[in-house]
Amino acid sequence: MRVAIVGGGWAGLSAAVELAGAGVTVTVFEAAKQLGGRARSVDLRPGQLDNGQHLLIGAYHETLRLMREVGADPERLLKRLPFEICFPGSQPASFRMRLPKLRAPWHLAAGLLSCRGATLSEKWRALRCMRSLQLAGYRLAADETVATLLDGHRQTGNLRRYLWEPLCLAALNTSPENASAQVFLNTLRDSLGGQPTATDLLLPAADLDQLFPAPAARFIVAHGGTIRLSTRVDRLDGHFTVTGEPFDCAVLAVGPQHAAALLATRDETRPLARLLADYRFEPIGTVYCAYPPELRLPWPMLGLAAGDATRLGQWAFDRGALGGTAGLIAFVLSGHGQWEQVDNQTLVAALHGELASVLRVRLPPPTWHQVIRERRATFSCRPGLARPPSASALAGLWLAGDYVCADYPATLEAAVRSGVTAARAILLK
Ligand SMILES: Cc1cc2nc3c(=O)[nH]c(=O)nc-3n(C[C@H](O)[C@H](O)[C@H](O)COP(=O)(O)OP(=O)(O)OC[C@H]3O[C@@H](n4cnc5c(N)ncnc54)[C@H](O)[C@@H]3O)c2cc1C
Repeated sequence: MRVAIVGGGWAGLSAAVELAGAGVTVTVFEAAKQLGGRARSVDLRPGQLDNGQHLLIGAYHETLRLMREVGADPERLLKRLPFEICFPGSQPASFRMRLPKLRAPWHLAAGLLSCRGATLSEKWRALRCMRSLQLAGYRLAADETVATLLDGHRQTGNLRRYLWEPLCLAALNTSPENASAQVFLNTLRDSLGGQPTATDLLLPAADLDQLFPAPAARFIVAHGGTIRLSTRVDRLDGHFTVTGEPFDCAVLAVGPQHAAALLATRDETRPLARLLADYRFEPIGTVYCAYPPELRLPWPMLGLAAGDATRLGQWAFDRGALGGTAGLIAFVLSGHGQWEQVDNQTLVAALHGELASVLRVRLPPPTWHQVIRERRATFSCRPGLARPPSASALAGLWLAGDYVCADYPATLEAAVRSGVTAARAILLK
């Protein structure tokens, strides 16, 4: 059997690895000059950097499994840290929550009760909230926004501001006022509601290319597959002839906006194209600033501000502490916000000032900076958003991509799972 995979992001590569490993001949068609899609390495001074600071968690089981499958050792390539959130600049006291090494659910109970910067009544309400969500199987009768969910569970004060809301934004890349509570609950079920290791933070200690795209490509080629870069597929052929080559079936593993354009070219898939054309998107900004190598953040991942309209920064990552260039800080800005209206120089100056104020030190200005704005970083994960299944109305055409994995927001794990699901469906045919 010969399978065409359209799109060489993490979803397409996962489908290709799963199929190639099962003896299927695959060809990956990727429009860009490189693999990786929205999780890729880019060539920038002072060397290779990622298009965005990515964060994985211990619950990303399929991603970790496929990394091992292609020979990318997660223990070497990812720095595993216990779940810890620190906002040293928060008021009236620094907010800090760490999950201790205890069995579930005691790790969560102890972590919430010992968290600093929240009142005792907030902590009790958070524990009761988690317990009642767990008893309900993390299911809602009808989807609503995360803000409504938090209101309903009387989540207020600093725990809401520095735990629930930042978790929502980090996981769904959509503000709590707009984000789907059901998808948020799915992520809580598999992280805070799961085994202690599920909440571990896995921070890339190598560039994104080395984590999966490059070893996956080697694996595919070693198993008889082909990778065609700089090859855009611009129409879907019912007989699966792609750039003149015949295939038995195809996996469409492109982002929802690109899938909509391709699916609109055929009668069978036009309704699906219309569905995807209605998707909205959220941006992510990543601002790299180079400081003297002596600069170390007190935590590799530091909260700058949450829910404060006067500040732009959300998180700062210490790339030096993660095995990268010492003194290089990656600021992350998730979802729509004020930062989109600000030019690069102003953005860098604001983030520099916010970091200095949180660290309470005089920082020398950055010697170098790079701003990367991914305007369509993820789909906007809204309540009740319709997500298509893997099988399409065109026999032999399967969908993969973060938007296909209905349980999850747009993440690497969703992309990988969707690719594996499409591949397994093909293998069952
Ligand atoms: C800045 C940023 C930060 C992020 N941070 C995190 C994070 O911390 N944790 C996390 O889990 N997730 C994060 N994500 C989300 C994650 O990167 C994505 O969910 C995931 O990479 C999506 O993979 P995909 O394969 O579904 O889609 P894509 O990566 O979009 O892959 C689709 C591929 O198809 C190609 N293509 C498109 N049209 C065609 C065509 N016609 N012919 C051939 N090829 C085509 C594209 O070039 C692309 O390579 C982040 C995303 C961004 C942008």
